[in-house]
Amino acid sequence: MVAVLCVPAALLAQKTIIYCGKLIDPASLQVRTEMSVVVTGNTISDVQKGYISAAAGDKIIDLKSRTVMPGLIDAHVHLENETSPNAQLKRFTQDDVDIAFQSTIYAKTTLMTGFTTVRDVGGTGVNISLRNAIRQGVVIGPRVYTAGKILSSTGGHGDPTHGWRKGLEATDETALTVVDGKDACIKAVRQMYKKGADLIKITASGGVLSLEKDGTGPQFSEEEIRAIVETAKDYGMRVAAHAHGAEAMKRAIRAGVTSIEHGTIMDDETISLLKQHGVWYVPTIIAGKSVSDSARLHPGYFPSVIAGKAISIGPMIQNTFAKAYKAGVKIAFGTDAGVYAHGKNWIEFVYMTEAGMPPVEAIKCATLNAAELIGVSDKVGSIEKGKFADIVAVDGDPTQDIHVMGNMKFVMKDGVVYKNE
Ligand SMILES: [Zn+2]
Repeated sequence: MVAVLCVPAALLAQKTIIYCGKLIDPASLQVRTEMSVVVTGNTISDVQKGYISAAAGDKIIDLKSRTVMPGLIDAHVHLENETSPNAQLKRFTQDDVDIAFQSTIYAKTTLMTGFTTVRDVGGTGVNISLRNAIRQGVVIGPRVYTAGKILSSTGGHGDPTHGWRKGLEATDETALTVVDGKDACIKAVRQMYKKGADLIKITASGGVLSLEKDGTGPQFSEEEIRAIVETAKDYGMRVAAHAHGAEAMKRAIRAGVTSIEHGTIMDDETISLLKQHGVWYVPTIIAGKSVSDSARLHPGYFPSVIAGKAISIGPMIQNTFAKAYKAGVKIAFGTDAGVYAHGKNWIEFVYMTEAGMPPVEAIKCATLNAAELIGVSDKVGSIEKGKFADIVAVDGDPTQDIHVMGNMKFVMKDGVVYKNE
């Protein structure tokens, strides 16, 4: 059509060519050398062998001395908060606005350390506004897929008023997400959909950082979880289940959840159920280690009921991960960021490799696998034509020395360069 000829040159999308000394392909677990990645607008438009020549007007980014890989994905973060000794008190002193301001800092830190996509598995619901603000370009941060608030049974790990005195317990807010029985569970899923959640997160078992005595026992019936999963499916949402104990995991897997988070006390039967149902395991080794360290090294950091659980449950996850990996369970990278300081997500790679997973596979867990778990493999998770231009790079080669992941040198998200040191 004639109209095409009338488009001013300035309006044609500018091409950026990234020269990659090394390029990690998580699908083949190969490191390719001397590659060119072409970015048009916010999309990867081509990937070619060799350093292709630029046409007039093309922009070149020279990463010939670096190892380039897809933007990293952390499938288990909490962007609203960060661990501190006064975490319990903060719940009475912080307004949503306070939480919103600090969450913007954590979001930026996360992006700058190479994580271009995250799955936020629960907070006050401010994370939904944070996701929107990032999407609109108001705030700098990773792509966020969020659960909004966690669904919990009464007195469960995700009941935010656990341990509070009479008179503070039931609020209108908690009534929406602290639920018992099939009908209430169905309604809670629909409420989270209405509020704008991308997925549903449940606490299928007790947990460490709540003021409850039992950190591992089941807290939803299988019938309740099935109601949650089936309702979530109606709205195109997946369900992530926090679970430390085996019985809780088994119920959640049989009821059809997409992922088990933490999975600490995983027996052989649970491992075979995970495989049989194709359910993802998101380990969060760093969270277990760091809560245990805080409890052991800083007396008074947690209330005593939490400290005891942190010391007994926390350190077990790395061995569980090793066992699950050897058994061939599907694993996606997730760290529970917020339970430790945001920005240290990369240390999970070190723990995964310590437990026997080759570095390149750990990177696959944090790219292709995490994208598949979230349900966004068509958009992110690899450097392929048609996907969003989420591209990061480090000096050195992380497949040889995983520690270089802690020094992110280049971050591009959605075709925009946020860091190039
Ligand atoms: Zn968590």
